[in-house]
Amino acid sequence: MAGFASAAEAVAVRLVELSRSTTGAAAEVLVTTAGLARDRGLAALVSGRVEAGSGICAATVDAVAELSDMFRASGGITAERVTDLVDVQDRIIARLTGQPEPGVPVPTEPSVLLARDLAPADTATLDPSVVLAIATELGGPTSHTSIIARQLGIPCVVAVPGLEGVLEGMSVLVDGGTGDVVPDPDPKLARERRARSAALAQASASWRGPGATRDGHRVEILANVQDGTGARRAASMPVEGVGLFRTELCFLGADSEPAVERQAEAYAEVFAAMGGRKVVVRTLDAGSDKPLRFVTTPGETNPALGMRGIRIARQHPGMLERQLDAIALAAEQAAGGQVWVMAPMVSTVAEAAAFGALVRDRGLLAGAMIEVPSAALQASGLMRHVDFLSLGTNDLAQYALAADRMVPALSDLTDPWQPALLQLVAMTAAAGLAAGKPVGACGEAAADPLLGCVLIGLGVTSLSMASTAAPAVGAQLSQVDQAQCEEAAAAVLATDHPGDAREAARAVLL
Ligand code: PEP
Ligand code: MG
Repeated sequence: MAGFASAAEAVAVRLVELSRSTTGAAAEVLVTTAGLARDRGLAALVSGRVEAGSGICAATVDAVAELSDMFRASGGITAERVTDLVDVQDRIIARLTGQPEPGVPVPTEPSVLLARDLAPADTATLDPSVVLAIATELGGPTSHTSIIARQLGIPCVVAVPGLEGVLEGMSVLVDGGTGDVVPDPDPKLARERRARSAALAQASASWRGPGATRDGHRVEILANVQDGTGARRAASMPVEGVGLFRTELCFLGADSEPAVERQAEAYAEVFAAMGGRKVVVRTLDAGSDKPLRFVTTPGETNPALGMRGIRIARQHPGMLERQLDAIALAAEQAAGGQVWVMAPMVSTVAEAAAFGALVRDRGLLAGAMIEVPSAALQASGLMRHVDFLSLGTNDLAQYALAADRMVPALSDLTDPWQPALLQLVAMTAAAGLAAGKPVGACGEAAADPLLGCVLIGLGVTSLSMASTAAPAVGAQLSQVDQAQCEEAAAAVLATDHPGDAREAARAVLL
């Protein structure tokens, strides 16, 4: 067992060293992956197998397989960490057997990197001057690999089937903007896409906000954050505030509900980082893909349809009120800042009414996320009880198309360009316009520059996204008129397939 402990520690130290050579999300991912190498649960599983007579390498592989099954069963973000875990396993085995730690060979000339899957630690060390683009067969859009690639500015498309058919030396077009991977592309198409992406990259680099279309229709460009660190990073970007503060991600490691004062500290850190800019706080969205030890309901057969989001208030009386007290306390300390509060997974008008009353009692603005088709269908009713709506297009796609958002094999169904999803967005935005109240979008759809323009054309009033995506979205919006966005929206609504919807938008906007 001593061999395992020292190999795992060496792997952790190496990953922490690597993290020092990078910054931001990449550094955080490497430190988190180092934490997996030091995980006591993993060491205990290995030790149990060694005591039962397994060799150290076999014990490590078996233990990682057991832990991976547990991660997969949790679903969501935890399931996506299986790639990180297997990477840690390969590194430990390499150490145990005296091999060099695995890595990606550095190409000698500028190349496109195609892989079945890519470990975050390997992605973090890629040189964007030789790795021009990445495409992987596995992985989800929120996987660490995608996040790091985005930070490095390397176009990255994940969950692409059939990459093994692309041979070494072949040319391949990887369009991170549209998600297209085209082997042996038509040279004219490749030239056009390269020219367009170079122009957008240049416009993004010089975009300083605030968000507006070319003819001056204002659109708030906001950031999605999960804690003070993320908020400080976002504050250095040209965003007008935070459109989604995922509070549950502050407490992933907590065994029990954090006290009101402890919660208030976490929220105040974000308000302080944004220095008076607007912050939309989402109350705990625990359950399903975001398990919190102090909230999750064990034994659910179908967690995505179970006790998640606002529904946790049914099983945990007082928890929502205590969180709202903590938000109000932190808002009071951040005097002058605009604090808006919204509930996740609202599915009825009654839920919106009850939530709206609790939030307004505390002197804050109340909102509801539109993530469930029933909420989009009743957007006007919801609007009577809250001050704003925010479209969570990731979940709205999942529930509208009945397709798990974390299953790469179903990613064609959860494509944010699915016409059914966009119809629900249109319906919600129309309700907002009729009520004269804002309707934002904070799912991945808002981070796609072209789709962002379509959302604005549909009547959405603000776009919130990973702060690194903000310049590209802001720049694209600044190159089109509001009338073009509306025309693109109408064209998209007339289509039956996501691919046609994209094409229809491109034809009007590019
Ligand atoms: C969404 O569902 O689109 C959303 C923004 O919430 P999350 O991704 O945290 O579920
Ligand atoms: Mg959601």
